[in-house]
Amino acid sequence: MEQQFDLAVVGAGIVGLAHALAAARLGKRVVVIDRDAQANGASVRNFGFVTVTGQARGEVWRRARRSAQVWDEIAGPAGIAVLQRGLTMVARRPEARDVLRAFLDTEMAQGCAWREADDLADRMPRRGAVLGALTSSVDLRVESRTAIPRLATWLEAAHGVTFRRGVAVTDVETGRVETSAGAARADAIIVCPGDDLTTLFPDSFARAEVTRCKLQMLRLADPGWRLPSPVMSDLGLVRYLGYAELPQAGALRARLEAEQGEHLAHGVHLIVTQSADGSLVVGDSHHYAATPDPFAREDVDALILDEFARVFGQAPPPVVERWTGTYASAASHSLVEAPLPRVRLVTVTSGTGASTAFGLAEEVIAGLYDLPRQGAAA
Ligand SMILES: Cc1cc2nc3c(=O)[nH]c(=O)nc-3n(C[C@H](O)[C@H](O)[C@H](O)COP(=O)(O)OP(=O)(O)OC[C@H]3O[C@@H](n4cnc5c(N)ncnc54)[C@H](O)[C@@H]3O)c2cc1C
Repeated sequence: MEQQFDLAVVGAGIVGLAHALAAARLGKRVVVIDRDAQANGASVRNFGFVTVTGQARGEVWRRARRSAQVWDEIAGPAGIAVLQRGLTMVARRPEARDVLRAFLDTEMAQGCAWREADDLADRMPRRGAVLGALTSSVDLRVESRTAIPRLATWLEAAHGVTFRRGVAVTDVETGRVETSAGAARADAIIVCPGDDLTTLFPDSFARAEVTRCKLQMLRLADPGWRLPSPVMSDLGLVRYLGYAELPQAGALRARLEAEQGEHLAHGVHLIVTQSADGSLVVGDSHHYAATPDPFAREDVDALILDEFARVFGQAPPPVVERWTGTYASAASHSLVEAPLPRVRLVTVTSGTGASTAFGLAEEVIAGLYDLPRQGAAA
């Protein structure tokens, strides 16, 4: 396998594929190496919700905007369907409405508006006791379990990217990666190992205090109605930093602690997305550990479904599928390091890889090849 490439990317999740795309667009010869036979990590377990609205103010929000543009650019050529657009961020409480109104006064509110509850029928055919919602038009949603394989197939066919699957990378040095199937040579190497924090550059992860976060996810049967945009609610306003860092979020947090303390204790908030067959992907929860257990707790699922019932004013449809996923987690948006010359270690540590990886990868590739940083500024 000792072939020479311009760039070797370790990891075929969305972060690795985003780097492969950015480099291939510069005409680089790229190899992507992944230990799994097919994508199996966070990138296929997520909602596929490319969330711009609510991302942390500043560079993360700009990365998300750029990433949504890239998803739009590649979706058609790669055969990836954009199933939903925008976001309906419901306010159930006056304190949540105050946060959203404050958000609408910021520069992050591009493409956003406030709508009263009686003006939401096209966004939410069924509603519980909601006061209204912030509606946005800039976000989008893909079905990750098919989108990620299609993105890889298109990178191979249209950009000549080479994939080595079922091959574990055991060591990285400048110019060379050691793998379970021999060595590969590349002028530059980008390591995107997701939440594998111990195989490659463990000291970097330890120094940055990166841990792992486990999420519980559900698929519900087709409810018989359609959501043109994903739906979120009050609990999300104290998790997503674009809202949570606004001063008005303090009063909402205090009320949620009094009224939904158990939801907060399990990191539960509500995201509801809809797939092409009408089924709903619903989540999620957040539990942190170096090695999270693999078990989905029924009481945690019940908290997620409780919020669903309050927001939609009806009992949830039957659960047809359950799974857990994990991602790397730290206080920052991402870990980007140069542990060796012409080697970069890149992990998104905020659970936002589907939303920000394309923008981040353009920045990393621009830095690697001394190009102007176009991604973040777009
Ligand atoms: C349940 C859930 C819901 C989420 N929802 C959203 C969402 O809606 N929107 C959003 O923006 N983000 C969401 N996220 C976060 C997002 O999915 C992650 O940030 C993103 O997928 C991380 O991508 P990755 O490529 O770093 O990791 P992964 O997808 O885990 O890929 C890492 C890859 O590296 C490979 N690898 C690791 N080490 C080696 C090695 N030594 N040799 C070879 N291969 C190796 C692994 O096999 C794996 O394929 C969610 C995450 C989860 C778990």
